[in-house]
Amino acid sequence: MHYFDNAATTKPDEQALNTFNKVNQNYYFNTASIHSAGRDSEKLLEASRKQVLDIFGLPNHHCVFTSGATESNNIAIQSTLNRKKRFGSTILISQLEHPSVINVVDHYRSEGFNVKFIKTTEQGRVDVDHLRKLMDEDVIFVTVMAVNNIVGAVQPIQEIAEILKGFPKAHFHVDATQAVGKVEINYENVDTLSISGHKFHGVKGSGALITRELKTMPPIFFGGGHEYNLRSGTVNLPAVAAMAKALRLSHENTDNISGKIEEYNQSIRNALAEHRSIVIQPGDVPHILNLSYVGAKGEVAVNALSEKGIMVSTTSACASKLATLNETLTAMGQSVDVINGSIRISMSKDTEEKDVDMLIKGLKEVYEEIGDVLI
Ligand code: PLP
Repeated sequence: MHYFDNAATTKPDEQALNTFNKVNQNYYFNTASIHSAGRDSEKLLEASRKQVLDIFGLPNHHCVFTSGATESNNIAIQSTLNRKKRFGSTILISQLEHPSVINVVDHYRSEGFNVKFIKTTEQGRVDVDHLRKLMDEDVIFVTVMAVNNIVGAVQPIQEIAEILKGFPKAHFHVDATQAVGKVEINYENVDTLSISGHKFHGVKGSGALITRELKTMPPIFFGGGHEYNLRSGTVNLPAVAAMAKALRLSHENTDNISGKIEEYNQSIRNALAEHRSIVIQPGDVPHILNLSYVGAKGEVAVNALSEKGIMVSTTSACASKLATLNETLTAMGQSVDVINGSIRISMSKDTEEKDVDMLIKGLKEVYEEIGDVLI
């Protein structure tokens, strides 16, 4: 099997799995228990928390462990808006967000909030000048992801944070799910940040919400008060420790891995350059490459590649069952034929040259197989 769907999920790292197993065997205690075994487990939890914050260079922020980015995004948006609604009613959102952000914001729109979309450039980046124009004293929440999951565009997070300094009522949330291990970003002036362990070789069911403030975040669901009362429920310590380990490994290897993947990305682009019915999108991180068989259906190409043992995805795995056109590509001004024919190839540290050779061969074969429908 040649796996090119790493933006949907990655293979857990062996060292992270070892950590998971060891913690499961030796620290299976409840971190909230006051006996010594519970306290030892709590120490490990706090060490993991510190490690995550140090890696992000945010030692004075707080780290709330969650089940993944969907939960982190929900807590950040719902908790903040529930508290801030008395200060204003406008939410600014990029057109590029994941459903775990868009659908929450959409819920608040139905409750009467004023939702405004920030325009996108042809490169798939947030249009900062448009954001500047949309800012006013009624804006209480701005949400922009760090790296887009469809084309891999890196968003101007620091520039946006600078603008928002002039609007202290506006909370800045960043979904950094696709950025970890791909690109280093300074999140110092971000209010809340979501990450997900399984996107960087941790285990599924692990994630974190990193927040500058705790006192301004009321819980959105209730229970025993774990994780600063923001995420009640017995903490999944093995998954947390495995995520912290995977995060450290990803962080240490970001440059090396990106260099290797940059070469693979370029080989794929070069190999397909002469195929005039294939459109390849620009993208900032090399790990994500979005290409379209113009005139065909992306789903047909995904299935044809799958039969050859090559796993890619249509738009994003989370959204692929929704019958809507892809929002990111639409926002970038792409035609319906390009959008319908698009597939996403996503690589990770586990991608090898032989996989890329097979992918290129497969992509060319599919081009021949579906050639009669191509424009
Ligand atoms: N945000 C982005 C940008 C994603 O790509 C994804 C998953 O595809 C998520 C959030 C959801 O992550 P999780 O599976 O951890 O809930």
